[in-house]
Amino acid sequence: MSTPICLVHYHELGLKGRNRGTFERQLKRNVEDALDTFADTTVARISGRLLVTLPSRQATRDAARVISLVPGVVRVSCGVRTPRELADVNEAALRVLEQSEPYSSFKVAARRANTNYPLDSMELNRLVGEYLCEHAPDKSVKMKNPDVTVHVEIIEGSAYVYAYTQKAVGGLPVGSSGKVVCLLSAGFDSPVAAWRMMRRWATVIGLHFSGRPETTDASEHLVRDIAQALRPAAGLKKLCIVAFGSYQRDIATRVPADLRVLFYRRLMFAVANAVARREGAKALVTGESLGQVASQTLDNIQVVDAVAQFPVLRPLIGSDKQEIIAESQRLGTYATSALNADDCCTLFLPRNPETHARLAVVEPIWESLPIDNWVDEILAKLETIKLPEH
Ligand code: ATP
Ligand code: MG
Repeated sequence: MSTPICLVHYHELGLKGRNRGTFERQLKRNVEDALDTFADTTVARISGRLLVTLPSRQATRDAARVISLVPGVVRVSCGVRTPRELADVNEAALRVLEQSEPYSSFKVAARRANTNYPLDSMELNRLVGEYLCEHAPDKSVKMKNPDVTVHVEIIEGSAYVYAYTQKAVGGLPVGSSGKVVCLLSAGFDSPVAAWRMMRRWATVIGLHFSGRPETTDASEHLVRDIAQALRPAAGLKKLCIVAFGSYQRDIATRVPADLRVLFYRRLMFAVANAVARREGAKALVTGESLGQVASQTLDNIQVVDAVAQFPVLRPLIGSDKQEIIAESQRLGTYATSALNADDCCTLFLPRNPETHARLAVVEPIWESLPIDNWVDEILAKLETIKLPEH
């Protein structure tokens, strides 16, 4: 009797002493949450690993892909749990090896977590290795760089046998790094920025500005899909949605055309300040990368940052678009970001936006606008969605 499993490996080095239990419990909850849509699945802590049991071998591969995106996980292995009797281990090892075709060389790597097992790891290596040689006579044993390594781990009353291991995202082994407000569009960049913060175990509040009522609510649906895709990262706890279109219309009629975008962005930051205060967040996050578009020059960044009352973190500031897109493919946000619905960014755009704005020009116009009233009004109408959505 064997059960399909994933073994979830995390960095043990960072887990000195007292934070270990907290981290393991949190990681277990995050893995459970990431696997919420998988039927008949259990997650348990066993000897420096998380053990996930699943209903089928196919499910282990699908689950491993999801688990590999949970921050704190360094590797995920797929295999089986069997009784720890040698005959059962041999049979499981052979099956796992056969599933690794095509290959020509292999070795066995055994480890026992408890010493009450009659065989030590050297003996296990030898005995299981002999059995495999007998049953796979056309293959060779190779100790250095074999095509396949069959791992056998004896943990408490069971043996865990696997050959397939997937690299995962890694990340910081702590319970939480605190809370941030991430300005989240459905574009490629900000979902990746939010994810990078979650990889460092920040709790993220997503703040999205839709063009409603001047546009449809399409971008809001896309951002909700993005939140769903980011679910394995486990840190996105809320999505706040602002209908921003009419404020942009107001700005467009009252601000010189070349400065409009900067004013939209300054108002976004003013709203983000208020949301951060309300949520107890300690920083704002954007998906900006230096020089990518007109508003992302150093001059314009300075003019927008002047509104921020919290540190503004820009995890992608030095990244190229190609790198960001590759990362979004890995995370699963690419397909939604590629749909590119109109959001507030596409509204009332000037033909020639200012690329080197100066605070001395911007501030007096800013002072003439009813910013505080707007922020109060926006906050009163803010739509808040608790995540994950079921
Ligand atoms: P993205 O791919 O993240 O949309 P972008 O390349 O379109 O970025 P900009 O439009 O200049 O660049 O936006 C810069 C940053 O401002 C975004 O990364 C995001 O953090 C924030 N932002 C832009 N549009 C919105 C929006 N509609 N709602 C929330 N935040 C936004
Ligand atoms: Mg955008």
